[in-house]
Amino acid sequence: MLKKGMKTLMTLAMLLGLVTGCTANKEAQKEEPKAITTDVLVVGGGISGLASAVFAADRGAEVIVLEKLGMTGGSGIVSSGALITCETNGLIDGDDSVETNLINFTDTAALGKDSGYPNIERIAYTLSETGNTVNRLVDMGMTISRTMSLATSSIVVVDGAGAGYANFLKTTAESKGVEIKLNCAGKELIVEDGAVVGVKATGEEGDIELRAKTVILATGGFSQNPEKVAEWIPECAEVYNGRATVGNTGDGLDMALAAGAVLYDNPWLMVSTTMPSPEYNREVGSLIKLADTMIVNDEGVRFTNENPSSYSTLGNVLIENGYDHCLALMNASDENREVLEKGIAMGEVVKGADVAELAAALNMDEAVLTQTIIDYNAACATGEDPLGKAADNLIALQETELYAVRYYPTSIGTIAGVKTTENCEVIREDGSLIEGLYAVGEMSNREFYNYHYIGGASLGLYTTMGRLAGEQAAERAGK
Ligand SMILES: Cc1cc2nc3c(=O)[nH]c(=O)nc-3n(C[C@H](O)[C@H](O)[C@H](O)COP(=O)(O)OP(=O)(O)OC[C@H]3O[C@@H](n4cnc5c(N)ncnc54)[C@H](O)[C@@H]3O)c2cc1C
Repeated sequence: MLKKGMKTLMTLAMLLGLVTGCTANKEAQKEEPKAITTDVLVVGGGISGLASAVFAADRGAEVIVLEKLGMTGGSGIVSSGALITCETNGLIDGDDSVETNLINFTDTAALGKDSGYPNIERIAYTLSETGNTVNRLVDMGMTISRTMSLATSSIVVVDGAGAGYANFLKTTAESKGVEIKLNCAGKELIVEDGAVVGVKATGEEGDIELRAKTVILATGGFSQNPEKVAEWIPECAEVYNGRATVGNTGDGLDMALAAGAVLYDNPWLMVSTTMPSPEYNREVGSLIKLADTMIVNDEGVRFTNENPSSYSTLGNVLIENGYDHCLALMNASDENREVLEKGIAMGEVVKGADVAELAAALNMDEAVLTQTIIDYNAACATGEDPLGKAADNLIALQETELYAVRYYPTSIGTIAGVKTTENCEVIREDGSLIEGLYAVGEMSNREFYNYHYIGGASLGLYTTMGRLAGEQAAERAGK
């Protein structure tokens, strides 16, 4: 009887032990984040992160990419997939020398105030590596839909535009064995004896710790983080931010700063101009050349020579003048009449049968607008504009059937980041390397521009930054 009772008690105790053991195990699991090891850990699955992964894996390294959103590609997906590429060895039929490509960088850098950047030597070095990068990607199966020149930049456009490019990088990375963890956000760098040895992250598997021989931060910029924009670029706090990926909240910058990295001076936005409706913006973008319009403020006064008429330059001019929008005045042509009329229905465009009607519709002083048009047309007649618009673009405005299109400054990313060497190694204030840590793409793009972004530069330069960092990371893993 006693024996039977003892047996029951012991069974109960064992069961209890098992249950409490299980609970304790679960608690232990909760407390102890799952540890994973790899050669190369990339945080951020945008263009520069995926490029890092492709080139590290191509050298035989084991690579994991963390992407906090449910999809890879970052801002690259909505881009037009245009990459500045130099020294292509025949891929581009034309002048694709570094020397010629540099002219656009130096000319654009001369616009507006002086930030202390760009660093021409660094641009020249990165540009000189772009041809090798793109040729290698073509060898891996990337297809190019066309090549073109933009100012003095030589450009390849990837088949399928930005989305096609991002998809190519993702599938190529996966085909080389790269593991991509979606919905998994890097939170903190693990630093031991001054060197970065991994990342703490949170994702579908809960909290995890990933140990790696090299960590590459590729989390993009911070244009979707209003607090950071207001703190670091107060002049741009009110700029409309709707175009870069929502993932651009500056996480990698916080992680790097906590590990001893330093920010570049004078951060800025990659400024562009837009209409709030992306759909209409797309339609108008291809049909209206700003240079062919006369641009005024809400008072009906011209304030820019419309010369560069790149959307980026106009955006910066608006910010410098403290305007949150401008009005581009034009007459309709057979090419754009339909889209302008559609804009009226969408509330993006205002029309007047004559100057008086347009001024009334814009709540503008008719006399001021009339005088502005008279002065502008006089400049068109002589070919000499007091604001310096190029004679070729001085096309007189007819005073009937006038349209006004509103443009707003916006941002498509940031020009900022943590200081790196030309090989993308992250450095401290004293210039020493933070061992094991690299930063690519908008995480570290300040040295490429003054305040004006250059079309096609991002994808071209950041893909190459990814290759440089990825290959060094593979080498650090003995591959
Ligand atoms: C509308 C538009 C058009 C453009 N057109 C062009 C063009 O034609 N040519 C050109 O050169 N450039 C263009 N650009 C700019 C270019 O697309 C970007 O500068 C470039 O894609 C930035 O690449 P990135 O890898 O640095 O960052 P992103 O592409 O922004 O990628 C960063 C990734 O990191 C992820 N991430 C962020 N935080 C974390 C975290 N904590 N953990 C894990 N993942 C994280 C993000 O979700 C994102 O996927 C355009 C941009 C826009 C918005």
